Amino acid sequence: MPQYGMVIDLKRCYGCYACVMACKVKNHTPPEVFWARLLKGERGKFPNTMRQALPVLCMHCEEPSCLEVCPTGATQKLDNGIVIVDKDKCMGCKACIMACPYGARYSVDKWESYFPDGLPLSEYEEFAKKYWEEHSGCGVATKCDFCLDLLEEGKLPACVEACAANARTFGDLDDPDSEVSTLIRKYRGEVLNPELGNKPKVYYLAPR
Ligand code: SF4
Repeated sequence: MPQYGMVIDLKRCYGCYACVMACKVKNHTPPEVFWARLLKGERGKFPNTMRQALPVLCMHCEEPSCLEVCPTGATQKLDNGIVIVDKDKCMGCKACIMACPYGARYSVDKWESYFPDGLPLSEYEEFAKKYWEEHSGCGVATKCDFCLDLLEEGKLPACVEACAANARTFGDLDDPDSEVSTLIRKYRGEVLNPELGNKPKVYYLAPR
């Protein structure tokens, strides 16, 4: 069984938000819900500074804090390492949202339009609302699932597919010959906040 993970090359990422938009389009997340996010900061010392983008998502932790606190078993870790939420078991207590050190979880009470109050939902929004309610759910503590449905079709997660800079690589961390393992080994991939002990499965290659 593969152990899925992702490598994000921070030298390649130029902060175009294609991953953020691809995630929204694929998962029909409502306003204020970002399973894929982009943080932006600066590095270096003036005057030699650079803008740096840092894409973040659920880290699909080996030791998920969210799973430990879930009282209903809604949060589950699959054999392939992907952490999922069973929307029918989630009672909306939000304990996982508090527990996740990576801010990867989102819950909305109801679907909100992207457009100002008073306008009827467009045909697309009606579709997106229905999709969200059926697949993720209002009141549910939702998050990225590495596009599990696409993986089952032999495809890549939407954010990986959309990345024009090829900054994202997805694959089997357990296979020493996979592209993700090779990149981590060759460029000394690191996870965010390793001191927390969550053992994330999203690795970053430093800007070189
Ligand atoms: Fe859970 Fe947060 Fe880890 Fe994702 S990043 S598995 S939501 S603790």
